[in-house]
Order: sequence, then C-alpha cells, then structure tokens
Amino acid sequence: MAENTQEAGEKPARRVALVTGGSRGIGRACAERLARDGFDVGIVYAGNEEAAKSCVKALEVLGARAVAYRCDVADPDAVKATVAQATKDLGPVWALVNSAGITRDGLLARMRDEDFDRVLDVNLKGTFNMARALVRNFVRQRGGRIVNVSSVVGLHGNAGQVNYAASKAGVVGLTKSVAQELAGRGVTVNAVAPGFIETDMTEKLPQEARDAYAARIPLGRLGSADEVAGVVAFLVSDAASYVTGEVIRIDGGLCM
Ligand code: NAP
Repeated sequence: MAENTQEAGEKPARRVALVTGGSRGIGRACAERLARDGFDVGIVYAGNEEAAKSCVKALEVLGARAVAYRCDVADPDAVKATVAQATKDLGPVWALVNSAGITRDGLLARMRDEDFDRVLDVNLKGTFNMARALVRNFVRQRGGRIVNVSSVVGLHGNAGQVNYAASKAGVVGLTKSVAQELAGRGVTVNAVAPGFIETDMTEKLPQEARDAYAARIPLGRLGSADEVAGVVAFLVSDAASYVTGEVIRIDGGLCM
C-alpha cells in the first residue's frame, strides 16, 4: 500500500473514484481524467510499485487527493480490506471503475488450466469482488456509478483468447445483472468494450499483427487509453444519469 496524502478525519470536498488497474494503461488514463474532472482517486494495482507511485504523483499534480493500494483483485479478502481502507482514507466511493485485467493467450487445445483460471479470476471474479465489496456503500448513498472494462473480444470472440473472451463476456453479463439490481437505488452500471488500444498489454504484439489490426479498423488506427477514458468519464458523469446496463464499444468502428 502506498502513500496517503489525506489528513485523518478530513471531510471529502470532492467525489471519490476507485479505479482498479489504475497504475497503467486504460486505468491510469481513467484515473487522470477523473482527477481532472474533480474526483479524488484511489487506484488499485497488482505489484508495479513504480507505476503506482508515478500515477499518484500525476494525480496530485492535477489537484486530486490520491492513494494507491496494492491488492490482487482476484482475492476477495484483500479486496474487502482495500475497499475499507480506501473509504477510510478518501471517503465513500462514488464511482468504481474496474479496469484491472490480464491476458494469458493460447489456442484451446494447448491452454493450461492455470491460464484459464487466472484470467477468469482477475478479469471476471475481480470485477465481481470489487462490486460486491462496494454494494452496501452504493445502496446506502442511493447513487453512484460502476463502469466495467470489458472488450470487443467479449462480444465477438477471438481465436487464441478463449479464456480472455469468456472473462470479458462474463463482465457484460455481470454488468447487466448488477445494473438491474442497483437501478432502484439510483446507481448506474455500464461497461465499455475497447477494441485495440495502445497500452503495455498490446505493446508485446509484433508490428505485423498491429498493422493487420489497423488495416481492419474503419478509423484506420489503433485507439489511445485517453479515448477510452473519455467515454468512461462520460459514464461516470451526471450527464449519463439515464444510461445503465449499456455496453459502449470504443473500437474505431471495428465491430460495427
Ligand atoms: P495494462 O496496461 O497491462 O495494465 C493493467 C493494469 O491492471 C495495471 O495497472 C496492473 O497493475 C493491473 N492489474 C493486473 N492484474 C491485477 C490484479 N490481479 N489485481 C489488481 N490489479 C491488477 O492493461 P490495459 O491495456 O490498460 O487494460 C486495462 C483493461 O482494459 C483490462 O481489463 C483489459 O482487458 C481491457 N482492455 C484492453 C484493451 C487494449 O487493447 N489494451 C482492449 C480491450 C480491453 P500493475 O501495474 O501493478 O501490474
């Protein structure tokens, strides 16, 4: 767990967002965008201390109170403890953005059990763990936002990613179910489904594969993490108060 910049007992003057996977990539872009939009931000990360510290600094420069929490979202007890600590540090959470995610690709015939299970545990069970740990908070405050990061792969499948596709399709089902459960409390729950976004996750792909993807994308290029963050910020904002149970593709038109 990293630095807490808040005075003990201070009343939060700004809304609080908790962003999993907030130390890098799409999560970091969301954390920075929400800080710009006036949120204090807790970020949850797996183990990259340096990235988490650098993100906290950037959020503070943007005027936000910011705290980083090292926590494996796949571990329900760790998630419970992190949510309790974040609430203590920053105040009640208004917006939860679930962006923590991993890939362990491989063709079906060769996929190992541990690679299937771990991807499901982080991407799907992690999203569930976070939402469950915060549900009482949302019900109590009769308002709030959950935005889950799915993927176009969860909507359309992808050869070599049976585990990842299953986890991201699961996130869509989870999103719509939680949206129905919490609608009566004024809480909206939505998902975004990014296409090919330039982050560490996609950096490892060979240039030919990137070029081949780009050639299939109507907008003719890969997307940026900021372009995902813009849609997440909209879903979190008051402007999206009548949007729930929705899945918004951010894929340059790839899957239209
Ligand atoms: P990334 O750059 O690899 O960043 C992953 C983030 O998740 C990091 O902050 C990492 O923490 C955190 N994380 C990983 N495992 C975790 C765990 N068990 N517990 C807590 N945090 C964990 O990935 P990205 O490209 O930004 O992807 C973010 C989300 O978007 C993922 O859910 C991904 O599936 C989804 N997505 C990405 C793309 C794309 O093209 N990039 C497309 C569609 C969907 P550390 O820094 O500590 O490792």
